Amino acid sequence: MTTQTQPQIKEFQAETKQVLRLVIHSLYSHKEIFLRELISNASDACEKLRFEALARPDLLGADTLSVTLVPDAAAGTLSIKDNGIGMSEAEVIDNLGTIARSGTKKFLETLSGDSAKDAQLIGQFGVGFYSAFIVADKVTLLTKRTDTPAVRWESDGEGQYQIQGDDKADRGTEVILHLRDEDKEFLEPARLRQLVRKYSDHLSLPIILKAGDTEDTVNQAKAFWTRPKAELSDEDYQAFYKHITHDSEDARVWAHNKVEGSIEYTSLLYLPKRVPFDLFEREQKGGIQLYVKRVFIMDKAAELLPPYLRFMRGLVDTADLPLNVSRELLQNNRTVEKIKSALVKRSLDLLEDLAANKPEEYAEFWKAFGVVLKEGIIDDAGQKERIGKLLRFHSTAVVGDVPEVTLQQYVARMKAEQKAIYFLTADTLAAARNSPHLEGFRVKDMEVLLLTDRIDEWVAGHLHEFEGKALANVASSAADVASAIETPEKAAAESAFKDTAERLGKILSGKIANAQVSARLTDSPAVLVAGEFGMSLRMGRILKQAGQNNPFATLPILELNPKHPLVERLRDTADESGFADLAHVLYDQAMLAEGGELDDPAIFVRRVNRLIVEGLAEQPKIILS
Ligand code: ADP
Ligand code: MG
Repeated sequence: MTTQTQPQIKEFQAETKQVLRLVIHSLYSHKEIFLRELISNASDACEKLRFEALARPDLLGADTLSVTLVPDAAAGTLSIKDNGIGMSEAEVIDNLGTIARSGTKKFLETLSGDSAKDAQLIGQFGVGFYSAFIVADKVTLLTKRTDTPAVRWESDGEGQYQIQGDDKADRGTEVILHLRDEDKEFLEPARLRQLVRKYSDHLSLPIILKAGDTEDTVNQAKAFWTRPKAELSDEDYQAFYKHITHDSEDARVWAHNKVEGSIEYTSLLYLPKRVPFDLFEREQKGGIQLYVKRVFIMDKAAELLPPYLRFMRGLVDTADLPLNVSRELLQNNRTVEKIKSALVKRSLDLLEDLAANKPEEYAEFWKAFGVVLKEGIIDDAGQKERIGKLLRFHSTAVVGDVPEVTLQQYVARMKAEQKAIYFLTADTLAAARNSPHLEGFRVKDMEVLLLTDRIDEWVAGHLHEFEGKALANVASSAADVASAIETPEKAAAESAFKDTAERLGKILSGKIANAQVSARLTDSPAVLVAGEFGMSLRMGRILKQAGQNNPFATLPILELNPKHPLVERLRDTADESGFADLAHVLYDQAMLAEGGELDDPAIFVRRVNRLIVEGLAEQPKIILS
């Protein structure tokens, strides 16, 4: 009987060609990763079969699922064979001829051109199969599902592949690599053994090396996480981490726990060092794999950790969920809820431990993932206290550009008369440090935290207080802020500038709620402040940029520095148009200092120039000399 049909020649999809070219030409310095990728595919195929066999035990029968490596020195080929699920013709075309996954575009965008870095990315984006072409100038793949005819696929990786029927009788896939002359080292049993130990030791299925007449299992063939902690070295944990994440860098820390009680499960959580490409997509589902009784069920089980811990990686293996558990079933499942809350605690334990014992490493963690962890203040009211202690801030009390101040330190340094934890938000650290809002606090020598992430306003709003101390935005007119910077001269100044404030209110109506004398300024003439319950200007701006209409927008208050010459000049200007020029300039300047945009920058420039020219005219000696 023959099922071989006429070969069909097909073109790879355009993006596939691009990836292929990259794989072949830029990743040759990391040749050996091809074996990890192909064994991982074979192992996935076996896990898929094991999973389908739950519903149809006849699929598996008495088979032992395994991967076999067969080097053939005479033919110059290395084959990687599995008795897993196999593929139908349509699946071969889909899986090997196109790159349907949305990750691929990102992969292409993320490539740095540095082959060492690009090699690390390849597995992460699921383009692993093509790594075969790093060492092979031709790849033949034979595959068969239980219930569909066998398929033969062949390509030299140059843009086309050939597909036809085949008479392979047994279920599974065989990938035959026709090794390039310079890559014949991968025919040596010792080299293969070493690579399997390095990359695939922890796979739960046996990896068999068939060299000549001898056949032996090379790996431990035991699910890594079921092994006792005492048996596992740091290197073992790191190797397993790399296996599940495809990260080429080590993990920072991990926690391996076996829980026996009302529910039984093993969890292995890792904190990575490197930021994955999709960390900032909140829909990104996180990195926890779910196993039930050692059978792989799903990747990225979003129900196992909240989004603010989506940088964690690892797995959970439990005996307390059914093997046929679906994503739908995971939602609102009490067992899952319990495991999730335990994983949240474990993750925070890991972070607290790092912060307490390795502050430099914690600072690196914070730089990479702090902005994600902060979301927890907003999302998880139950953990606000714990997460609050893990936050790190820039501050007026610390000069460096590493955010290192904790709320505990801040509270311990608070002055006896100080009522609140003061913070300022700005788009950059430089803008924050130079903000006019800090002037009054500098005089009083009161520390202000400087917040520069876009979500900081929300974080501060949700945190609300820490150890009983309220948080107060110094760019607002909240009572806690006003009382901190109160000066004895303010009352007198208020009556001296009463008229000026009223005139300003009229000229700038529609732009400000009102104008008033300020105690917060020493150097700047004026500043814009949010009303006590109004939204800050920066937050309003962020919402506007995000295209959201903002029902809470309120007009700011313009505060004046009564000691500033420009403000004195304003008071003494009787002429209406001169007064208006100066008033608009003060307002526009204050807006710029907030990082805001001017409605009409050209008019601002014209007014400023007019003032400069007038100023020069009044000091003829300066121009003439
Ligand atoms: P990924 O493994 O990340 O999905 P790969 O490029 O490694 O990406 O593989 C592409 C797809 O080809 C796999 O998702 C799988 O569907 C299929 N495939 C590859 N190798 C095998 C195999 N040995 N058995 C069955 N299917 C396979
Ligand atoms: Mg793969």
